[in-house]
Amino acid sequence: MPANKIRVAYLSSEVYPFSKTGGLADVAGSLPIALQRLGDVEVWVFTPLYRKFTDPQAFGIQDTGLRVRVWLDQKEHEVGLWAVEHRGVQVYFVDYEPYFGRDHIYGTPTGDDPDNPLRFALWNLAVLAFLKELENPPDILHLNDWQTGLIPVFLKTQPDPFFAQTRTLITIHNLAYQGLFDASFLSRIGLDDRLFHIEALEFYGQLNFLKGGLVFSDLITTVSPTYAKEIQTPEYGYGLDGILRKRADSLIGILNGLDYEVWNPATDSNLWVQYDTDHVQEGKAANKAHLQEIMGLPQDPDIPLFGIVSRLASQKGIDLLTEALPQWQGRKFHLVVLGSGDQALQDALQEIAKRWPAQIAVQIGFDPVLANRIYGGADFFLMPSRYEPCGLGQLIALRYGTLPIVRATGGLKDTVKDVSEPEGYGWVFEPYEPEALTEAVFRAMDLFPDREEIHRLRKRAMALDFSWDRSAKAYREVYLQLKKK
Ligand code: ADP
Repeated sequence: MPANKIRVAYLSSEVYPFSKTGGLADVAGSLPIALQRLGDVEVWVFTPLYRKFTDPQAFGIQDTGLRVRVWLDQKEHEVGLWAVEHRGVQVYFVDYEPYFGRDHIYGTPTGDDPDNPLRFALWNLAVLAFLKELENPPDILHLNDWQTGLIPVFLKTQPDPFFAQTRTLITIHNLAYQGLFDASFLSRIGLDDRLFHIEALEFYGQLNFLKGGLVFSDLITTVSPTYAKEIQTPEYGYGLDGILRKRADSLIGILNGLDYEVWNPATDSNLWVQYDTDHVQEGKAANKAHLQEIMGLPQDPDIPLFGIVSRLASQKGIDLLTEALPQWQGRKFHLVVLGSGDQALQDALQEIAKRWPAQIAVQIGFDPVLANRIYGGADFFLMPSRYEPCGLGQLIALRYGTLPIVRATGGLKDTVKDVSEPEGYGWVFEPYEPEALTEAVFRAMDLFPDREEIHRLRKRAMALDFSWDRSAKAYREVYLQLKKK
């Protein structure tokens, strides 16, 4: 890496398009590209090589020939390094078949792999070892979520002169996932037993990887300014709010961006009809008619269509929706839901769809094609989340001219402005109560017949800029601050 650039090693346990279970992969697959495009930041991405998901041949990923030996669990493990340049960014894949050659990333529906602490500790140790083989040390190690939480612990408790100038930053994508394991793993990983106390890695008798990252990293970021404040409260802090309050001066919220090349209604081949801002009216009308048809709903342009694309988890406020729906009886509306996850929520939604077949259509599963068709064909997009670190769904909806109805939490609060405000383009409600959701939905329904106003709001939504450019600049600022420390 050239010496005048900020050199960043970016670690993520999933990176789109090589692997993905959730929003982290989207971020890791797009932020490094936006950073690199700034011109003065050089990014290397590190991720495990999951051969079942990432076929090296299909992606042109090649063996660098480099090997390191990692001591873990009383054994030495020989680990390889593969690499590819992807959209201008160097991506390195840590290859250790016994740990990463499985047909899942973290676990199966029956549970996470019991050796996950060893798998991700090995990945962390291997990345540090490979960095020493590659070149000059990075200025910044940019870490993400619990899977990278041990890196700052190793660097602070087992200092290595090679990394003396390297600073660490960890980004929290969702505080609910912390990497909690049995205390016995501490010694198997090679960490000092004395780290098992409440000011370090211990969390109610267990070993907490994320806590290690939060305690020992130089800086903490999370994915929206509002979530950065919320996680310092007991309500949203998942037991780590105390640590986060203590580190409040080193905690910053930077909003995620959306990859505007990937998400673009003018080029989206999943849509029946592509459209840009100048053709949003016709484009959305055509997509809506097709969507109504494939979902078995009457084709009627005058009925407002609400869309949901979501994991079905308690985080997403699906229970709020099922409680609110009976209040909508007698109203003209269509609701299309695409989601998968929690069995009880799936059952509840399917039950409602059975009772209201002419109005509500539910599709269970993970289906990127139908997802885009909902973003394109719906009039309104619902996200009544209990909490939402940033949220991508509302950003995609805005990009597609689909007006969001959201609960005022986390990134939803930071990105959606209520129509009652100047330059507003959505509907925002605050209390986590069915009545509050219903009130926001009714305000949208009541405005819907005003075609001109809806058209104006759609154009306004599509003109917003939530691309990565702004966020990448904010990260660069943070890197520069850290470098000076
Ligand atoms: P989270 O990461 O918490 O699940 P986000 O709103 O940040 O929520 O991101 C969700 C992403 O996953 C979006 O790109 C959304 O379109 C996609 N998604 C969620 N559920 C489904 C599904 N059932 N089928 C297809 N895509 C989905």
